[in-house]
Amino acid sequence: MTKLTPMMEQYRAIKEQYPDCILFFRLGDFYEMFFEDAEIAAQILEIVLTARDGGSGVKVPMCGVPFHAADTYISRLIAKGYRVAICEQVEDPALTKGLVKREVVRVITPGTVVDVSMLEAGENNYLVALAENESAIGLAVIDVSTGDFQATEVSGPEASSLVLSELYRLRPAECLIPAWTQRESILYEFTEKFQNSVVTEMDPTYYQYAWAEAKLREFFEVEDLVELGLESCPAAVIAAAVIVAFLESTCRAQLKHLSRIRTYQPREYLGLDVNTRRNLELTRNLKDGKREGSLLAVIDCCRTAMGRRLLQRWLEQPLVDVKAINERLDAVEEMYNSFSLRERIREILGDVHDIERLAGRIGSGVASPREVLALKNSLINLPAFKALLPEVRTHLLKKILELDTLEDVYRLLDSVLDENAPASIREGGIIKPGCNPEVDELRKLAFEGKEWLLEYEQGERERTGIKSLKLGFNRVFGYYIEVTKPNVHLVPSHYVRKQTLVNAERYITDDLKNYEEKVLSAREKLVLLEQELFQVLREEVACHVSRLQEVAGALAKLDVIACLAETAFRHDYVRPLVDDSDVIFIKNGRHPVVERFLGSESFVPNDTYLDDKERRLAIITGPNMGGKSTYMRQVALITILAQVGSFVPATEARIGVVDQVFTRVGASDDLVGGQSTFMVEMVEVAHILKNATRKSLVILDEIGRGTSTFDGMSIAQAVLEHICSHIGAKTLFATHYHELTGLDEVLAGVFNLSVSVKESAGTVIFLKKVIPGRADKSYGIQVAGLAGLPVGVIQRAGDILRSLESKGGVDKVEAINASNVVQLALFQEEHPLVEELKQLELDDMTPLEALQLLYRWREQLVAPSKKGKRNKRGGG
Ligand code: ATP
Repeated sequence: MTKLTPMMEQYRAIKEQYPDCILFFRLGDFYEMFFEDAEIAAQILEIVLTARDGGSGVKVPMCGVPFHAADTYISRLIAKGYRVAICEQVEDPALTKGLVKREVVRVITPGTVVDVSMLEAGENNYLVALAENESAIGLAVIDVSTGDFQATEVSGPEASSLVLSELYRLRPAECLIPAWTQRESILYEFTEKFQNSVVTEMDPTYYQYAWAEAKLREFFEVEDLVELGLESCPAAVIAAAVIVAFLESTCRAQLKHLSRIRTYQPREYLGLDVNTRRNLELTRNLKDGKREGSLLAVIDCCRTAMGRRLLQRWLEQPLVDVKAINERLDAVEEMYNSFSLRERIREILGDVHDIERLAGRIGSGVASPREVLALKNSLINLPAFKALLPEVRTHLLKKILELDTLEDVYRLLDSVLDENAPASIREGGIIKPGCNPEVDELRKLAFEGKEWLLEYEQGERERTGIKSLKLGFNRVFGYYIEVTKPNVHLVPSHYVRKQTLVNAERYITDDLKNYEEKVLSAREKLVLLEQELFQVLREEVACHVSRLQEVAGALAKLDVIACLAETAFRHDYVRPLVDDSDVIFIKNGRHPVVERFLGSESFVPNDTYLDDKERRLAIITGPNMGGKSTYMRQVALITILAQVGSFVPATEARIGVVDQVFTRVGASDDLVGGQSTFMVEMVEVAHILKNATRKSLVILDEIGRGTSTFDGMSIAQAVLEHICSHIGAKTLFATHYHELTGLDEVLAGVFNLSVSVKESAGTVIFLKKVIPGRADKSYGIQVAGLAGLPVGVIQRAGDILRSLESKGGVDKVEAINASNVVQLALFQEEHPLVEELKQLELDDMTPLEALQLLYRWREQLVAPSKKGKRNKRGGG
C-alpha cells in the first residue's frame, strides 16, 4: 500500500470516522477536500480541482475554499442533500512542532443547520425521527435553529395516515429512520413519498426503550419521564432520544437551547389529511409548491420572521377547542378595533430581530458578535411592549404583554458589547471601551502609538540631520524609515536597508522593530482577549436561553394576532361566531385567494348554510367554469380560518367547530405508487368514508369520473347515500351527473344548489352565483369552445349532443360517433372540391368564369349538406 504523508494519514483516519460526509479539512486559511470528496465538491461548487502529493509521489485530487467564506459553500452542498463535517486545527500551529492536531468539531446536515444564511427566515427547518413499536408510531421533531422540540405518538387504524399528514405538514429537511427498515413499514413508505427530505439511517441499537429513556433523562436532567410528559408514549420516547443522540454526534457544541420538549397529539387539532392540505393550498400552491398563491401568502403580513413561522404553524394546525379559538378571536378583534394599538405594536415589532433563532445560535455557541448585538437591539424594545399592557383588556393580549422584559440580559449585553460589534469574532472591536481595563490597555498600545512614532521620527531627524526623513508602514515590511537618495550618505550605520525605491531607500532599526512587535503582539493579544470575553458573554446569555425563547414565543404570537387583525382590516374580513353548534352559516362568503387575484369588485360573494338536519349534504350542479370548486373550497377555507382564530372573508359567519376537513378534488396518477387515476380517486374516497364523522366537513369535487358513466354515477350515488345516512358529515358535492340531483327527494338531509348562468344571444355568461335548486346543463361544449378547441370540433360536439339528447341514450353514442368520425376524416382529407381548388389556374380565368365556378361549387355543396351540416362546415 502507498505510504501516505503524515498529514494525509491524519486526513484518512478522520475521514474514516465520517464516511458519509464531505470532510472540510482545515489547512491554514483554507478548508481542503481530498479524494472523492474533492471531485464531488469541485463539481457542485464549481471550483478548480487540483492535486496534491499524498505520499510516495501519488497525486491526490484536491480542492479548497477559503475558511472565511465557507458558509456559502457549505450551504450549497447542504442544499444538494450532502452532509459536511468541519475538521478544525485544535492546536495553535505557531506553538506546535510537527503535525497540528485536528478534530471534527461539527457535522452539518440538512436537518441541523443553524446558520441563518442557510435558512429561510419565515420557515422552520425540521429534523424528524420516526420510530415504530408493535402498537404505535412515534414521531419526534425539532427545529434546531429555534430549539422547538416536540414529540407525539399515534396508534390505531389511522396511525399511518396521521403520521403522513404530520410529515406533509412539517416537510422535514431530514428524517431519521432505523437502518434496515422493512419495505412494508410506514417509515419506508415515508422515504418513498417524501423524496425531498434527506433520509438518514440510524444504528438500530438506538431503538431500544431502556436506552432511549435513560438518554432523555440524562439530556433533560430529569428523574422521571413524567416531568417531560412522555411517560406513556414509548415510541415517542425512542424517536426523541434518537434525535438527541443524532444532535450530540453532529452538533458537538452546546445544545443549551434545547431545554424542553413538548408532547402533542395530532388529534388535538383540526384533522387535515395530506390530500386536504395539498388541495386547499393552505401554505403552498399546487402548481410548484411555492408560497405564492397559497392562503398563507394572502393573509401573511407579519413583521417578524418568528411571526411568519408561527402563522404557518397556526394555519396548518387549526384548533378544535371553542374556548381557545375564541380567546384568539377576542385578541384579534381587540387589535382590529384599535387602529392605534395595532399600529404601535406593528411598528415596534419592525425593530425586533428573530430572537428565536438568535437564541438558538447563542444556545449552540455559534452566534457572532453582530448577532448578539442584534439580540441586544431587539431586547431594548421589550419595555415598550410591556408599557401597552394597561391598554389591553383581552386575556390573550394581557398574557402576552405581561412579558419578561429581560432587563438584566439587556444590561449585561449593553455593558460589554460594542455598539458596532463586527460580524466576525476574529476582528476585534467587540468589547465596549471602558468595560475591561486590559482590553483598553491593549487597544492603546495597538492603536494609539502615534505619539511614540512622532517622537521617534523627530528624534531621528535631529540625530541624523536628515530633515526629510519620515516614518512609514506597509504590510510587507512593517514600519520603516524612508530617506531620499541625496541624503543616503547621512544614514547611520545601525540602519538596516530593507527596500530601494527610485528616489529613496527604506530602513529599519532595532527600536522600530521592537516597537512594531509590541504593537503587533498587542493587536493579537487584543483579538484573543476580545474573543475570550465575547465567548464568556455568549455563555452567560446562553444561561437565559429559555427566557429568550419564552419572549420570542410571546412576540411571535403578538405578531400573528396583529397580522390577522391587519389582514381583516385591509381585506374586509369579519369575526365569525365560533361555537359547538352543528351549523356552518356564511353570508356573502368569498374565496380569500381567488378574491385577491381577481380583485374584490370582480368576485361574486356567495352564501352557505349547512347543518346536521335538513341541510347536511349539498349537491352542487351547474356549468363548467361556473364556480363550483371555488365555492366549495371557500367554505373549507373559511371554516379553517375561523378555527385558526382569524376573521373570515364574509359579511357574517357562524362556524360550528368541525373535527376534520376532507377534500377530494381532481385526481392524478400515482404511477410510482402503482396506482391509476381512478384507483387514486377511489383510495381517497375510501379514506374519507373510513375517517369522516358527523362533525366533519367533506368536500367532494366530482367522484366517479374516471370510469364508465354508469359505474361512476352508481359509485357517486352510493357514496352520497353512505355519507348522508351512516356518517352524517356536512358535505358539499359538485357533480356533472345531473341525474343525482333527484336524491333530495329520497334522502333526508340532501338538498340541491347550482351555479347560475345567463344565456344571451347564443353566448353563456357565468354569474358565479350559487342559488338553491338544480341545474339542467353543464355547458361543457361552450366552455370547451372558450378553451380554444377548434371550431369544427365544437360544432361537431354540438351535433352529437343534440343527437344523443333526441335519441335519449348512451347506448347509441358509439354508433353515431363511429360513423361520423370516419366520414369527417375522409372529407377533410379527400374532398374533391379541395383537390379542384388546388389545381385551379386562377390567372387564366376571367372574373365571370370564377363566379360561375363558385356557383357550381355551391350547388355541389348544398346537396350533401341536406343530409347533415357537417360537410358544409368542413368544406367552408
Ligand atoms: P368545473 O366544473 O369545470 O370544474 P367549476 O364550476 O368548478 O368548474 P371553478 O373552477 O370554481 O368552476 O371556477 C372557474 C373560475 O371562475 C375560477 O378560476 C375563478 O377565476 C372564477 N370564479 C369562481 N368563482 C367565482 C366567484 N364567486 N366570483 C368571481 N369569479 C369566480
